[in-house]
Amino acid sequence: MISHVLPTYNRAPLAFERGEGAWALTADGTRYLDLGAGIAVNVLGHANPELVAALTAQAGRIWHVSNLYQIPEQERLADLLVDATFADTVFFTNSGTEAAELAIKMVRKHWHHAGDPERIEILTFEGAFHGRSTGAIAASGAEKMVKGFGPLMPGFRVLPFGDHEALKAAVSDRTAAILVEPVQGEGGIRPLPDVCLQGLRELCDRTGALLVLDEVQCGMGRTGRLFAHEYAGIEPDIMMVAKGIGGGFPLGAVLATEAAAAGMVAGTHGSTYGGNPLACAVGARVMEIVADPAFLAEVNRKGALFRQKLEGLVAAHPQVFEGVRGQGLMLGLKCRVAPADLVKAGYDQQILTVPAADDTLRLLPPLNIADDEIAEAVARLDRAAASLAV
Ligand SMILES: *Cc1c(COP(=O)(O)O)cnc(C)c1O
Repeated sequence: MISHVLPTYNRAPLAFERGEGAWALTADGTRYLDLGAGIAVNVLGHANPELVAALTAQAGRIWHVSNLYQIPEQERLADLLVDATFADTVFFTNSGTEAAELAIKMVRKHWHHAGDPERIEILTFEGAFHGRSTGAIAASGAEKMVKGFGPLMPGFRVLPFGDHEALKAAVSDRTAAILVEPVQGEGGIRPLPDVCLQGLRELCDRTGALLVLDEVQCGMGRTGRLFAHEYAGIEPDIMMVAKGIGGGFPLGAVLATEAAAAGMVAGTHGSTYGGNPLACAVGARVMEIVADPAFLAEVNRKGALFRQKLEGLVAAHPQVFEGVRGQGLMLGLKCRVAPADLVKAGYDQQILTVPAADDTLRLLPPLNIADDEIAEAVARLDRAAASLAV
């Protein structure tokens, strides 16, 4: 008999009752060191007192009003995002996949508005993940996501990852947009080298195509800059954000330049919950904390410390690990064993990690993880790896 919860997830036999910073506790009080952070969501850890205060203060005032009215909390968060980025305007969603939907709609509307409604082709890359809506799965094209859900939404061409020739051959003045993650998350912590991002920007400038970045996983301080594309010194036309932006409260956003958003006038898009007062009150507090240069410098320092310790772990277990990759606190261990086996062995050591494609184990701790917790994480990963070695 089917479970009452639709069984689309292979869940671990673990239930967490509460959390404290980088730790998640089961009902019997067992403490798990959480290096998944709800898949890069809990950027300030569990039950962060500042976020709890922001949420409860707003909860005592007003929860939800609808976008039929002015929402000062939403305007404030939009101000913070516009001030900190390339963007001129922001639309708030409840998730990453909704941000992907709007980004795709915005691209189509942009060219329709420009008098070129046939210009719809969006180029994407193998290994990409943009969410689970019908549009987002078409953008990724991955067999496991699209099988049985056809016909797929037309207008996407999925290119091989890292194949410059294929890319050059595919881009023309008929290309509507290029959609890419600066660091692939689900794809296995695969960073796009800075020169490639710069090359994509040049291709877009030359052809007029819009550059759309998916920073749902790599954004919000995860890599040690507020947004990962800042390392390449380029700016997108449209950017999707979610996961970390709400610190655990469901929130996403599409950021855009005024030119890219041309045509998105009243009535062209909407959301009942998107940008509601609760989400935006929390999101604004997350932004205030994470966008602080001193906070981001700490993410970089901790990322370097973690990485150095992980290099030691790889050297100690050459039969289990192949190498370390990623940036800041978006780290991956390329494995010689199935990452899912390591995740399981980690449960026995009370550490939570997340598998990804390309034989990679993801380590996405809260960005305020302490140095001694990083050391503890590596000690637990060391025991987990030892338990797998033959
Ligand atoms: C998680 C993710 C999404 C989808 O976000 P949801 O909130 O799960 O809909 C989109 N893009 C990237 C890069 C992601 O990591």
